[in-house]
Amino acid sequence: MPSIRSTKIAVIGSGLMGSALARAFAAAGHDVAVWNRTHSKARAVGGGTVAFEDLGEAVSGRELVVVSLSNYAACAELFSSQAVASALAGKTMVQLTSGSPADARSGLEWARAHGVGYLDAAILAYPAFVATDYATVFYAGSRSVFDRHSETLQAIAKNSVYVDEKIGSAATLDCAILEAYYGGTLAVLHAAAMCKAEGLDPKAFFAQKNSFLGLISVTADAAQGMIENNDFSGNQCSLNTHVAAIEHIVRLSSDARISARFPQELLENYRRALSAGLGDKELPAVFSTLSNS
Ligand code: NAP
Repeated sequence: MPSIRSTKIAVIGSGLMGSALARAFAAAGHDVAVWNRTHSKARAVGGGTVAFEDLGEAVSGRELVVVSLSNYAACAELFSSQAVASALAGKTMVQLTSGSPADARSGLEWARAHGVGYLDAAILAYPAFVATDYATVFYAGSRSVFDRHSETLQAIAKNSVYVDEKIGSAATLDCAILEAYYGGTLAVLHAAAMCKAEGLDPKAFFAQKNSFLGLISVTADAAQGMIENNDFSGNQCSLNTHVAAIEHIVRLSSDARISARFPQELLENYRRALSAGLGDKELPAVFSTLSNS
């Protein structure tokens, strides 16, 4: 195996994700310092990492500083200290705390004001999957800064995706994927609840996983082309027909006395598209009513 260049890294935050990231960097042969507000957690990271009680000492002499805290409010609180900002000057920070694009923009503003190099990043993985083929990390910011560190960053996810110079682009892509994930998951759980309420073993639904995942995949592909061309016409199934199908789901939920809030919300969204005169268009036509509101 070709030997990698060992980079001096500090990982700030020893929560579930920060600990996994720190151990992955260390396992790849990097020299890793860890710091956490609650020091006992930093000491527990292990895997060849070195825990520091003082943040300034943890980042001293480090080329890369990776941050993984609960949220941007926690980061703002930590980095509001002048001593911390001075300790980070001249280093490259990879901000792996999840946030919105606006959070990423405010992070870059802070970094520029304090002479800190900055990449905003978003990780799409549970800690157990860090460093495996199932982990993806999106990066936004300066292309040259990303290129300089991309080999080192491979330690946490082989699938490192540079998205764009626009600092909010990684967070945007992360939010988009997470919306599909959480929305899709809620739909799956509600579907299983409908089956159970009607006395059908949810196993029967889960056995059809490939059929609904396949439908979503085909629809996503069709939607992409239709959105690009701003043309939602077609000859497969009109929105009028789809709305009738969603009405059945609402009725089943009400009849079976389970929550109908989720299908009702779907119905309202799709009905708005009918009100906008799109009833004879294909399903992705709903996009026009969402992007214009
Ligand atoms: P976690 O286990 O709850 O860890 C949170 C970390 O934030 C701890 O180190 C905590 O320090 C620190 N923290 C909170 N408030 C702080 C403050 N005011 N000052 C200093 N440190 C503070 O959370 P996690 O699961 O590791 O998540 C970390 C980030 O990774 C989040 O942005 C999350 O969205 C993202 N993420 C997580 C996953 C996942 O599956 N876990 C997946 C993708 C992305 P203390 O120990 O002192 O409380």
